[in-house]
Amino acid sequence: MVKYKIAVVPGDCVGPEVTAEGVKVLKATAEKYGFEVSLTEYMAGGAAIDAYGDPLPEETIDGCRSSDAILFGSVGGPKWDDLPWENVHGAITPSRGIQRLRQIFQLFANIRPAYLFPELVDNTPLRPEVVAGTDLIVVREQCGGLYFGEPRGIIGMGEERKGINTLSYTVPEVRRVAHVAFKLARRRRRKVTSVDKHNVMESSILWRQVVKEVAKEYPDVELNHLYADACAMKIIENPRQFDVILAGNIFGDILSDLSSVLAGSIGMMPSASIGEGTFGLYEPIHGSAPDIAGKGIANPVGSIMSVAMMLDCSFGRKEAAESIKSAIKSVLSGGYRTADLYKPGTKKVSTSEFGDLVAAEILK
Ligand code: NAD
Repeated sequence: MVKYKIAVVPGDCVGPEVTAEGVKVLKATAEKYGFEVSLTEYMAGGAAIDAYGDPLPEETIDGCRSSDAILFGSVGGPKWDDLPWENVHGAITPSRGIQRLRQIFQLFANIRPAYLFPELVDNTPLRPEVVAGTDLIVVREQCGGLYFGEPRGIIGMGEERKGINTLSYTVPEVRRVAHVAFKLARRRRRKVTSVDKHNVMESSILWRQVVKEVAKEYPDVELNHLYADACAMKIIENPRQFDVILAGNIFGDILSDLSSVLAGSIGMMPSASIGEGTFGLYEPIHGSAPDIAGKGIANPVGSIMSVAMMLDCSFGRKEAAESIKSAIKSVLSGGYRTADLYKPGTKKVSTSEFGDLVAAEILK
């Protein structure tokens, strides 16, 4: 029987609560589809700072390196918000744990689907007729661009201080993430929208040139280009027009968060971070939600759907992945909702009850 080795990194606050449900559903799916999973837990984020003085201890890096995929929760919380500035600058904040993981394994493509389950059409701030049928994916480059460009820093003194960040992209950096977007589009509705600020930035001129070159290898996929600001407007105006949105680090960051409102709750949104091979890191897009931690009310769908993405992207088990999505749909159709989605007339369930329902649906 095939066995997948998975590093489970639950993190802080609601991280462990939602990850437990992802693991529960993963085990049920393995039972149903006849494969084995070997799961080992590792620390990252605030908990790891407390235990090791490091948000990403060597043990975690080694454990991840010897695994087929990582299931990540979320990191951070008020306890670690007031670290001395030299620590923040010297990168021992909780979020450096996840950033370093992405860097170490060169997980350059962050894939964030914004899919609205029809059952939740009244849960978004947009009118149902606008948002119904939303099914788009943002592919964000996440190992380069503005967040990593050099030079960076704050130079000078007093009123003369200057904060500097650099937005640069190389041809290979754009090319590799563009291939991810086009391959993904081929499995969907064959449309890529590449996002840039071609009108004002040289890095965007290069971005557009390279994306156009890559597009020639995918003649069956339609490519169009939008400025990042126009794209933000159009996502809200008519999200159904989008299939795969390809963007650099900062534009992708903003547009994927914007798209998250289309799914009804930030708790619904999964993500995958992948590189050249099949190895990937899977996590809900939300943070550690300290305001609701420990109450058993977090929505675990982001983590559960991240497991579905793992099965599909890292292990090529599309059918098992689809069964998770169908199980969530059935549970929502049954009227079950976590607190973030609850409305009178629906049935409020806890984080673990929702996970139980999804796991039971898979095993039916
Ligand atoms: P957040 O995503 O944690 O929370 C934003 C809002 O969404 C909160 O009201 C929260 O209750 C709600 N929410 C989040 N997840 C939910 C879920 N599963 N179900 C129901 N509601 C949910 O963002 P924040 O408040 O800006 O950040 C909190 C902490 O998380 C900070 O320390 C931040 O640095 C960290 N963070 C970590 C990651 C990560 O680990 N990848 C990402 C973003 C933020």
